[in-house]
Amino acid sequence: MITITDRLAAAHKRIDIAAQKASRNSNDIRLLAVSKTKPIDLIIDAYRAGQREFGENYVQEGQDKITQLKRQFPDIIWHFIGPLQSNKSKIVAENFDWIHTIDREKIAQRLAQQRPDNLQPLNVCIQINISEEKSKSGVFADEILPLANIIASLPQLTLRGLMAIPSATDDINKQAQELSQLQRLFTQLGSHYPNIDTLSVGMSNDLEPAIKFGSTMVRIGTAIFGARDYSANNIDINDERIR
Ligand SMILES: *Cc1c(COP(=O)(O)O)cnc(C)c1O
Repeated sequence: MITITDRLAAAHKRIDIAAQKASRNSNDIRLLAVSKTKPIDLIIDAYRAGQREFGENYVQEGQDKITQLKRQFPDIIWHFIGPLQSNKSKIVAENFDWIHTIDREKIAQRLAQQRPDNLQPLNVCIQINISEEKSKSGVFADEILPLANIIASLPQLTLRGLMAIPSATDDINKQAQELSQLQRLFTQLGSHYPNIDTLSVGMSNDLEPAIKFGSTMVRIGTAIFGARDYSANNIDINDERIR
């Protein structure tokens, strides 16, 4: 039987090979294990196999898992990677270490206000709408710097970089175009904010091209935990699942 340990090792191997091909150091690429919809037991399996960073998409599910695991595994780093409605921002501010999906000033302000004083600043990435389709989340290129300036002015937040979900496409040219545009925007933002260090892009199906174009954090779900079954759980995925 293939275990989580095997799958994690295989994911690391893919990262290593992609990094090598891109003449990059694989230590510069972090693996975020996306555990959305997956049970606690599998998170613990991955933890025992050495994984420390986990990504969740749904506020309530994430909060439940963090509450159950934080005493036993205080060194897990929890990343919120789903769309966030402002009425749920407090839960993210109080429970997570990172959020990858900031796309408007109001959410940044709320998260800063709601971040408890006894916690480290919340690490944030600005989500970019790289395909510029209206139906997708994220900001357009010209909105990045104004939003970054606001985030940087809030001491309860630490600006770490950019996040994107490129189009799911078989068109290699389109994919490369989006990824290189994203890389360019990341470099540009870095000229204003030299401390940013995170380009969050690449999933199970596109981690190799993402690494070729400078990803520093790949978000891998299916390749580690297997396919997700949305029908089998009772979370409300309608407004929060990946779009
Ligand atoms: C679900 C999800 C992932 C993981 O996708 P896989 O294809 O299962 O690797 C990564 N990023 C985001 C934002 C997601 O919602």
